[in-house]
Amino acid sequence: MGALDELLVVQAHDTKADQLRHQRGHLPELARADSVRGEIAVIDAARAVTGGELGGIRSAEHRLEDEAATVQAKAADVERRLYDGSVTAHKELEDLQAEHRSLVARQSQLEDQAIELMEQAEPLQAQIDGLDGRRAAHQEELDALQAVIDSTQAELDGLIAVEESARDAAAQQVDPAVLRDYDSLRARLGGVGAARLEGSRCEGCHLEIPPAELDGVRRAPEDATVFCPQCGRILVR
Ligand SMILES: [Zn+2]
Repeated sequence: MGALDELLVVQAHDTKADQLRHQRGHLPELARADSVRGEIAVIDAARAVTGGELGGIRSAEHRLEDEAATVQAKAADVERRLYDGSVTAHKELEDLQAEHRSLVARQSQLEDQAIELMEQAEPLQAQIDGLDGRRAAHQEELDALQAVIDSTQAELDGLIAVEESARDAAAQQVDPAVLRDYDSLRARLGGVGAARLEGSRCEGCHLEIPPAELDGVRRAPEDATVFCPQCGRILVR
């Protein structure tokens, strides 16, 4: 093994760990969960609008019912005075009877209005029930997706940790100065800081190295660090 072969072992573990991290962040379940969250947000927005409308109708309905109850109590009071013998004057009794009729009519009108509102509320309540049902189904799917995401990511974290510790062990064998060059190249060049020279081709950029430069690469002392003249990566000869 050449002096830099161990660097390619480091590179292989880094590449594998990068792939695992990419996989961890791009699970199909993550994309699906995002889209389900979007669908839930749309449902919540629709529910807020319909819920607000329904709430307005329900409170108007309750106001009418309260008012009807108040009117009913008044009518009962008038009725009591009509029959308890406390009023005997004919004119006064007539007035009370008229007031009673008017109160009863008012009560019936208020109750009819409340029933009308109750009927208006029905389709809105049905809409809300439908939205709630759909939301619950989405939430169930989301929970199932999250369970898959959690377990898959935990599994990938384990594999990443294995790569990282193998990388660290291999990195012990590499000259720290070379490793620093490698790390900064890797950061700049899409995760690949070192590549093997295969014939006259750099396996990092997959370009042929021109003969004049290739000669210089080959003549360099075995312990010298050489860089690909095309992409700048460390070349492992
Ligand atoms: Zn190259």
